[in-house]
Amino acid sequence: MFENILLAVDGSDHSMKAAKLAGDLARLSGGKLRVLTAYEEVPSYLGEPNLSQVIAKRTEKAEEILDEAFEQIGDVPGGCEQEILSGDPAGSILRVVDTFNIDLIVMGTRGQGDIKSLLLGSQSHKVVSAAPCPVMLVR
Ligand code: ATP
Ligand code: MG
Repeated sequence: MFENILLAVDGSDHSMKAAKLAGDLARLSGGKLRVLTAYEEVPSYLGEPNLSQVIAKRTEKAEEILDEAFEQIGDVPGGCEQEILSGDPAGSILRVVDTFNIDLIVMGTRGQGDIKSLLLGSQSHKVVSAAPCPVMLVR
């Protein structure tokens, strides 16, 4: 049913629950799973060598988040791809959706943010508002 599923992870508990469910859905549907994490953009005014060092640190952290997600996902016969992008997470998610013909987005209801009183985080809110395909929010 879903041929190209996108999972977005930020290391939060909700996103790791989303990872487990996305793995199950990809196995059930026989589709491909693409896993995305975005790190905060590093301002270019930092200059070298600081810029490269900060990017390397953030990339390393992003790789740890992806590793944790892949543990939750398990084997996906249809195949898994990963993306590490910098900048606005919701914007990155929506760009990947367009580029890869994503037909389902799976993400957490909330993420790493502090304000737990709101039902949705700002990124999940933006994605649900603008996505051209179904969005599954996991808690
Ligand atoms: P806020 O960021 O608005 O303070 P929050 O952190 O609780 O609130 P969101 O950031 O909207 O909530 O997180 C909801 C979901 O969005 C996460 O569970 C994750 O699936 C996805 N997400 C958030 N940030 C990223 C990111 N940097 N990269 C990939 N996915 C992300
Ligand atoms: Mg957040």
